[in-house]
Amino acid sequence: MKILRLEVPHWERFDGLIHGFLGRVSSQGRPSNAAFRLSSDNDDDAAVVKSNWCELKLGLGLRDISIITARQVHGNTVLKVSRGDGKLAGVGDGLMTDAPNLCVGVMAADCVPILFVEPARKIAAAVHAGWRGTAAGIAQRTVASMKEAYGIDPAALHVAMGPSIGPCCYEVGPEVAAQIAANWKEELKGAWRPNHEGKGRLDLRTLNEIQLLGAGIPGAQISKIGPCTACSVADFFSYRKEGKSGHQLSFVGWRR
Ligand SMILES: [Zn+2]
Repeated sequence: MKILRLEVPHWERFDGLIHGFLGRVSSQGRPSNAAFRLSSDNDDDAAVVKSNWCELKLGLGLRDISIITARQVHGNTVLKVSRGDGKLAGVGDGLMTDAPNLCVGVMAADCVPILFVEPARKIAAAVHAGWRGTAAGIAQRTVASMKEAYGIDPAALHVAMGPSIGPCCYEVGPEVAAQIAANWKEELKGAWRPNHEGKGRLDLRTLNEIQLLGAGIPGAQISKIGPCTACSVADFFSYRKEGKSGHQLSFVGWRR
């Protein structure tokens, strides 16, 4: 099995941290670059999905770690995960946990996967932020939820955004800009490059970064990892470039 896994280089110093932004996964007996299905959104056989998870965890060396995901709906609900039994945590686009030997994960193909860690308390969160979730402020909502659930200080959080569609490839219409501007008018200015007919190029990672700074996370603790997904379809799924094909997993948690 071949797994492309990006990690945040300076997170190496956090003892016990497990994380990764995965790209395309290829496995024996499958055509190269076929989607390695980890969710049943496309009516995939549940037994195949279950066996794929086993194969992936084995390939990652995380056989003893639970990886919990959710049914994502492009909203801003953040779920608290206290234990893992291999099932979906529920419906939501963010998951947070303080449980040991458990990772929370999100699936994305252009949308921004965002991982949060609080190294002293060993707390983690994973978020899926497309334009709708970003418009709904899921990044700030996650910081607020972690504060409420665990009493964390936003200044102690380290955050990384993974491979996602870049402003090079992400043109959106004025209706998208208007929906974002409804909540983030000033913030959008730093992440929007107008071109023609009211359309423009949207920089989703930068918009989330601005929201994270607004939530009190120090800029030096926010990282962007990996390329634009649409520019790198050999390595990453891109919905914009390929249509409905597959998603890559990003995950984070603590071993104790
Ligand atoms: Zn691009």
